[in-house]
Amino acid sequence: MADVIRVTVWNEGRHEQHMEACKQIYPEGMHGTIAGFLNAEPDIEARTATLDEPDHGLSDDVLDSTDVMTWWGHAAHHEVRDDIVEKVHQRVLNGMGIICLHSAHFSKIFRRLMGTTCGLKWREVAEKERLWVVAPGHPVARGVGEYVELPHTEMYGELFDVPQPDELVFISWFQGGEVFRSGCCYYRGAGKVFYFRPGHETFPIFKDPAIQRVITNAVRWAAPVETGVKPVVVHVQEPMEEIAD
Ligand code: ZN
Repeated sequence: MADVIRVTVWNEGRHEQHMEACKQIYPEGMHGTIAGFLNAEPDIEARTATLDEPDHGLSDDVLDSTDVMTWWGHAAHHEVRDDIVEKVHQRVLNGMGIICLHSAHFSKIFRRLMGTTCGLKWREVAEKERLWVVAPGHPVARGVGEYVELPHTEMYGELFDVPQPDELVFISWFQGGEVFRSGCCYYRGAGKVFYFRPGHETFPIFKDPAIQRVITNAVRWAAPVETGVKPVVVHVQEPMEEIAD
């Protein structure tokens, strides 16, 4: 393993091309902003990849040298090639971490990792959100305090159709009354998955220091851990101990 965490920040990158409100907040794209704050950390080395690049920017070389991937998609989930999704899925099962952000709840890769519809309720009226920490000892919540408050967000509400998280780190409250499991950890094979709800394209969510802290924490949590144990099928012909009749 490398001595820094190698992150590939993947973004659909279409709203930044076509949506004025998004362009103004993220002139470098959401991927540029996310890679920017990650690269300010001494133990993280982030690069970006987007949908419209060849192979969506996810060549075998890139995948093989990625410890943690972040994923943002919204309007073009269906344009992501199935063979690339298959490769990303295999990489996760073999130990790569993945952080699925906001509307990535409906991405091919997240739905495949969950095995459920990943449906939810939503409303876009710029209401307030509080993300309450419900796992105070969890590394993803390091330094966050009791809650993160976002003054203007899109609402996501329950029922969020995902498997019960292996570890639930945040529950969101919204001004309109809904709640949402907004920070969910899963283990899949040798890999780790973190779903983090904030990140709507027309609010400066990824510029919020508390949100940047959570994503940075999540990158460190999701980084591969070398146990020497691989999730593979092995036929054990000879038992380790003699088996008596
Ligand atoms: Zn959104």
